[in-house]
Amino acid sequence: MESGFSDFGEKLSAHSGIYDLMEDLGSALSAGGMIMMGGGNPAHIPAVEDVWRRRLEEILATPGAMESMLGDYDTPRGRPDFLETMADFLRNHLQWPIGPQNIAVTTGSQTANYLLFNLLAGSRAGSPRRILFPLVPEYIGYAGQGAVPDMFRAWRPEIELRAPDTFKYRAAFGEITPDIAALCVSRPTNPSSNVITDNELSTLSKLVAQADARLIIDHAYGQPFPGVIFSDVRPPAWEEHVIHTFSLSKLGLPTSRTGIIVADEKIIDRIARMNAQVVLATSTIGQTITRPLFASGELTRLCSDVVRPFYRQRSEAALAALRESFAGYEHYRVHECEGAFFLWLWLPHLPVSDKELYARLKRRGLLVVPGSYFFPGLQQPWEHASQCIRVTYSSNPTAVRRGMTILADEVRTLGIKDS
Ligand code: PLP
Repeated sequence: MESGFSDFGEKLSAHSGIYDLMEDLGSALSAGGMIMMGGGNPAHIPAVEDVWRRRLEEILATPGAMESMLGDYDTPRGRPDFLETMADFLRNHLQWPIGPQNIAVTTGSQTANYLLFNLLAGSRAGSPRRILFPLVPEYIGYAGQGAVPDMFRAWRPEIELRAPDTFKYRAAFGEITPDIAALCVSRPTNPSSNVITDNELSTLSKLVAQADARLIIDHAYGQPFPGVIFSDVRPPAWEEHVIHTFSLSKLGLPTSRTGIIVADEKIIDRIARMNAQVVLATSTIGQTITRPLFASGELTRLCSDVVRPFYRQRSEAALAALRESFAGYEHYRVHECEGAFFLWLWLPHLPVSDKELYARLKRRGLLVVPGSYFFPGLQQPWEHASQCIRVTYSSNPTAVRRGMTILADEVRTLGIKDS
């Protein structure tokens, strides 16, 4: 018997890297015993969790607040008071000339991307319209999000080698062909932790405006919250053709499933209507917990005084552990760690693929993510894509050190391929 599923159903339920990643994460967490350096779970930062606990106590102590949070549907674009507060926050912090009409809440920023990609791209008057990733590797979660096949394209970046053992991707600008509806870049980028520079971003924005397309910037780890960027860059200025997505997840609220889109009013109206179809109303818990923190400035202080220094320190500890474990082994490079929660390791002489290395490490109790999942839309084969792995350092430093030792030991055992 045939599957009986529609093309759309087949497409969305097809096997995907993001599904494997989240399954691995969930089952390893519940089974225990694994060193979790795979998924992008935020760390449990005590000073941040104290704030969530205090906010929940305040909600419980405020007559009607808990009842409203749990018992009232929001509008399909979010809670009106949250939208007002978010607009004030972005006006004050980034000088964006926006109001609540420019903001929609979504069920996590994963859904924000899904709705935006399929709003802008797919098929239009019978012609294909696509999303272009201007700098791969890019977020694994984008790869399967097209409602139609063949929705993504990508530009292959240049690799700048840096001493002693690092590298950085540089945007290699190509042509924005008429089928491209929008470009999308995460800043910082999951998986490489690359932060596209101010100059690169402004060149991209100009190219996009000339091509009458749009530019989506995914700030899941970025500015102004949670602010996990270590390089010296500015948040982008407001431009009509640029769409911004944010998330409360990496602040430490991933289960609140709260994403935020900030864009031109026409886009936001469409997103609100799509929300009504797909999820009916947005999730209220994250909005209720954080609204007063955005309004009072406490959230900004939390990001700059706690969240960013925490991840910076973890990234430095992870890099030190990596270098110690790989001491004497010359055939690795790591991307400059410019933000997010990851080290992106390049092993150009490994005799096995990234997927084989992943499977071997899993058997030894270490979860990482194979790099080849992170190149959506690339049309030409690029051997670099199967020479990288992503290693998350947000879990506890002792486990990360142990994980690095296992990783380096496995890599040494495998040796290098004959050239
Ligand atoms: N964008 C990027 C770059 C991410 O890394 C993630 C999650 O890891 C998301 C979006 C989706 O996050 P959420 O749906 O929890 O907001």
